[in-house]
Amino acid sequence: MSDIIRLLPDHVANQIAAGEVVQRPASVVKELLENAIDAGATQISLIIKDAGKTLIQVIDDGKGMSMTDARMAFERHATSKITNANDLFNLHTKGFRGEALASVAAIAHVSLKTKREEDDLGTILEIEGSNVVNQEPVVTTKGTMISVRNLFYNVPARRKFLKSDNVELRNITDEFHRVAMAHPQVGLKFSSNDTELFNLPISNYRQRIVNIMGAKTNEKLVPVEEETELVKITGFVGKPEFARKTKGLQYFFVNDRFIKHNYLHHAVTSAFEGLLKEKNNPTYFLFLDVPKDSVDINIHPTKTEVKFDDEHSLYAIVRASVKHALGQFSINAIDFDKEPQYEVPYEYTKKNTSSPKIEVNPDFNPFSSSDTSNSSKPSPSYSKPAPQAWESLYAGLDESSTLQDETEEVSMTTSMFEDEKVTRNIFQLQRKFIISTLKSGMLVIHQNRAHERVLYEQLLKHITVQRGTSQQLLFPLRLNLPVDEVSILTQLQDQLEQTGFIFKTLVNNVVEIVGLPIQLKEKHVPEVLETIIRDSELDLPKESFSQSDRLAATMARGMAIRSGESMSQEAMENLVDELFACKESELTAQGKKVFINITGESLNLKFN
Ligand code: ADP
Ligand code: MG
Repeated sequence: MSDIIRLLPDHVANQIAAGEVVQRPASVVKELLENAIDAGATQISLIIKDAGKTLIQVIDDGKGMSMTDARMAFERHATSKITNANDLFNLHTKGFRGEALASVAAIAHVSLKTKREEDDLGTILEIEGSNVVNQEPVVTTKGTMISVRNLFYNVPARRKFLKSDNVELRNITDEFHRVAMAHPQVGLKFSSNDTELFNLPISNYRQRIVNIMGAKTNEKLVPVEEETELVKITGFVGKPEFARKTKGLQYFFVNDRFIKHNYLHHAVTSAFEGLLKEKNNPTYFLFLDVPKDSVDINIHPTKTEVKFDDEHSLYAIVRASVKHALGQFSINAIDFDKEPQYEVPYEYTKKNTSSPKIEVNPDFNPFSSSDTSNSSKPSPSYSKPAPQAWESLYAGLDESSTLQDETEEVSMTTSMFEDEKVTRNIFQLQRKFIISTLKSGMLVIHQNRAHERVLYEQLLKHITVQRGTSQQLLFPLRLNLPVDEVSILTQLQDQLEQTGFIFKTLVNNVVEIVGLPIQLKEKHVPEVLETIIRDSELDLPKESFSQSDRLAATMARGMAIRSGESMSQEAMENLVDELFACKESELTAQGKKVFINITGESLNLKFN
């Protein structure tokens, strides 16, 4: 029998290797940005088309490559960054495997233009599926431009596996953030489909974070500084009162490399113990410098996980330095005119419960003289006077055709209640339940859930069938959010506008709203938007029905009257009528019971 084992041809081996290195467009972005950093660039541009499916381009002003190196760069295991195994323990660069370019070239159309300072001419190189199709000299400036087109063109299974553009773009943005945060000494630009998303000037760490996350971030950062033999820690943690339920603003960098580390994450979280509201996540941007031979960054192919020599000590140091930073901050924050509150650190208990991340520019109202001071203190949500009677939630409902459409249900409902509407007894119990008498007994209605159900059906109808009514705002509402959150809202813009939102601006980190759904109180806007953003991060299937459904449910939850709010007689009557005009009155969108029916008979039984 003849031998059966054969060596794989290079292009097949490269394709297999590519599977590990390049999982999605964001992986290419990461590799190319890191190569540019390794090449000593001071300016880097990232250009993306169709979430990287059509084009990923990185332009840098780094050291460039010679003609031979340009060709070598695409060979597997070809790297200029290490020469032997010992170098692995003394890495000064992001790359060292020499796999990235070979992998990318195996599964895309790649073109490279590069020139070194000392060369007169640069090189253009074009590669398709590992084959060089063109190489020629070219007049160009110092640096490198790599364009990756039609990613996975020859791996259809992979291409099909890609998520929606929204999701892939978010992954790309995440990688961009990570590289940008670790390298404030490098200017970075990022544009997607010809829109500039970021233009980050050379700056320091703090300024870089603020440029990425939005101007309002500045006042929320508490510096962390610690230097020991084992590690030097610099960076920032978010003040506890700005913590949010949304995950995400949690960054560890080790020797300028973004990493994930559950154990160290725990160290930070535990330093925040007692300072955060339930389910809120701390924000942190921590840069750890450790001796190069005390960390092994080699344990994972995509290199976000690392192994430290002495994790336990590191844990203790991280925890202590964060605690220390928070303690310092709270001491500074004490107002000595007021009674000191030593037992309650960071004045957590007095903390405003409004949505933490979203704020309004208090200067916006040109007529208001009281709040034009540009306070550097965290502004407790926004303070525009917008006292609206709760009843106004129902204003405009008559215009909606809900009631007219559902006359059947309405008449059925009225027959459920006692004969004359005026004689129907409705009252509020514990500011939480609405008790309504029936012919047959009584209903105990959960006010929050009932309202949620009503709103859910209205909103769903508005999103899918008929645009909802807007209330114009006298003064636009301006919010500052992280750029990626604004881009989530941009993606939902059409649907949100169907519900009655009118956006004036939705760019970079600025959201300006000039109209609201008629049922939405202005003061609930930040919370509602935060919930929408958080829910959208769960990344459900892209099906339009489920998305509308989810948006309606999310908004309804945020907008519904809370337990603890008192309701007028009229409001309660309206709510009950509305509830029983719903297609489904018994359960909320999440399947929770809205009311219970206590019959006269069951009461009789209790008295036996
Ligand atoms: P690695 O980064 O692990 O060395 P890559 O496949 O990413 O492997 O790159 C191979 C080589 O190509 C690098 O070692 C470097 O010498 C060269 N190279 C890649 N990108 C650039 C760039 N933007 N500027 C200069 N040289 C580059
Ligand atoms: Mg590399």
